[in-house]
Amino acid sequence: MSFTIHGIGVSGGIAIGRAHLLTNTRLEVTHYDLAESEVHAEMDRFDSAIATARSELAALVEHIPENAPPEFEAFLNLHHMILGDSTLSEAPKEIIAKQRSNAEWALTQQAEALLSQFDRMEDAYLRERKADVVQVVERVLKALTGQPRTIPAPRHPEEDSILVAHDLSPADVILFKQHRFASFVTDLGGATSHTAILARSLNIPSIVALHHARQLIRESELLIVDGSSGVVIVNPDANVLMEYELRREQWQLEREKLKRLKTTRAATLDGTRVELQANIELPEDVDQAKDNAAAGIGLFRSEFLFLSRTDLPSEDEQFEAYRKVAVEMDGLPVTIRTLDLGADKHLNGVQRFSPNPALGLRAIRLCLAEPQLFHRQLRAILRASHYGKIKILVPMLSTVHELNQTLHLIGEAKRSLDEDGIAYGSETPVGGMIEVPAAALSLGAFVKRLDFVSIGTNDLIQYTLAIDRTDDAVAHLYDPLHPAVLTLVAQIIRGAQKAGKPVAVCGEMAGDVKLTRVLLGFGLRQFSMHPAHLLSIKQQVLRSDLEEVTQLANRMLKTEEPDKLQGLLEKMNA
Ligand code: PEP
Ligand code: MG
Repeated sequence: MSFTIHGIGVSGGIAIGRAHLLTNTRLEVTHYDLAESEVHAEMDRFDSAIATARSELAALVEHIPENAPPEFEAFLNLHHMILGDSTLSEAPKEIIAKQRSNAEWALTQQAEALLSQFDRMEDAYLRERKADVVQVVERVLKALTGQPRTIPAPRHPEEDSILVAHDLSPADVILFKQHRFASFVTDLGGATSHTAILARSLNIPSIVALHHARQLIRESELLIVDGSSGVVIVNPDANVLMEYELRREQWQLEREKLKRLKTTRAATLDGTRVELQANIELPEDVDQAKDNAAAGIGLFRSEFLFLSRTDLPSEDEQFEAYRKVAVEMDGLPVTIRTLDLGADKHLNGVQRFSPNPALGLRAIRLCLAEPQLFHRQLRAILRASHYGKIKILVPMLSTVHELNQTLHLIGEAKRSLDEDGIAYGSETPVGGMIEVPAAALSLGAFVKRLDFVSIGTNDLIQYTLAIDRTDDAVAHLYDPLHPAVLTLVAQIIRGAQKAGKPVAVCGEMAGDVKLTRVLLGFGLRQFSMHPAHLLSIKQQVLRSDLEEVTQLANRMLKTEEPDKLQGLLEKMNA
């Protein structure tokens, strides 16, 4: 019987293949009582399982494939930290001793108590870390029962196999890379889960949050995975299969053809230049940006240097990271966004409880509340600006007062470098992210104080439409085509240009090929996106007639009817 399952597509493209089910390792274990004389041996057995899990993780860190995304190591380190926490590595031994129960049982009792605390957490990012705890517990259970954690080789040729899992840990994904699956789909994983982040880095069609795929799909069933629309078709009939085979061929051909555009200048049909830059999270991502001919780094999310660690990076460590990117980009612009911590990204030490983190002490608000942390970062960025074309970008501005304070602190950082006799680029431009509707609606006061503007459409949409972008329950309401969003984006672009200030879009809208012409039509000439999207956006730019798209974009701004907007979008992309 043919049926479809819907989830959240996290990496586009089409894969067709046979299902390969990953065993669903729940925390279900048997319980048995121990004799008093057996208790010590059981505690030792538990200790050696922890040691095995620890050395498995260490071995994985040692053998990270060269082409693995930079997040792998950070995630493995997180698992290492969880494993080292006494709630998992020590407390179960007390249960073994007190209740005289077997180690597997003691571990799962302890894990369940811990996991129920995660359910009560307000913070979506932390809630999602529950999956990491489960994965660590599973690893210890496997060590106890003697079953190795492996992803068995598929029965069918790898390139035709689709991995179906309840959840995948980062470590699983490394194992998964040893076989070249065509795609993977999982039951769990929100938009910010590690699985989703890793899926994007792997750049193969994948879907998360399918809820019951693992139960509904049987081993070796034929699957079509449409990563763009987030749909899995199970046992497709002959016609559907033929249609998707064609689409897949076209998609593969397109990907090959795109590589030829690497050296082509990005310009519209009438020769208007468009600048296509890359978003990066870590210095290592520069390679991918360069491989896809990025014209610069439009957004370096610097807070990733601060995540997945217990200490804070020093000024020198930050300086080295920023300098490395500036030097490697060899004179091309590098836009370093100051710390955007808070909301779904937390730092050990300065994390505060917030009932509504997206609206709380986040980004520039947090930096202004932690001036020393901010000062260190500003000094590091300024020092690096001596070695390349660095720009400073300030996230989540909502009041001019925040901007004035920030500019004052940048001045102070410069003065302190002067006092220390340290060189820096004294003309380092300072830009602001416009991603809060309040800033968009009072743009004039911001742009006159700024050297450039970058539109963070991810947050602009979140705050305009009142949708928590990390909550997959409202993910379907996330709509870049909402007339309020389009109006704001166009207003910001045109407002900045009127004030003579460069403007870019660095949110996901910039990497969405369906929206390229809308943005061009609004007047945008600078886009910054995940490096994997650069060439397809370039292709769309090359095929765009500026006069025609401008007319259609203006018509879009005159309607508030979703159907008409959709119709105009289709006409624009026809
Ligand atoms: C945005 O909000 O659009 C953006 C680019 O920043 P981030 O996704 O890091 O919040
Ligand atoms: Mg943002």
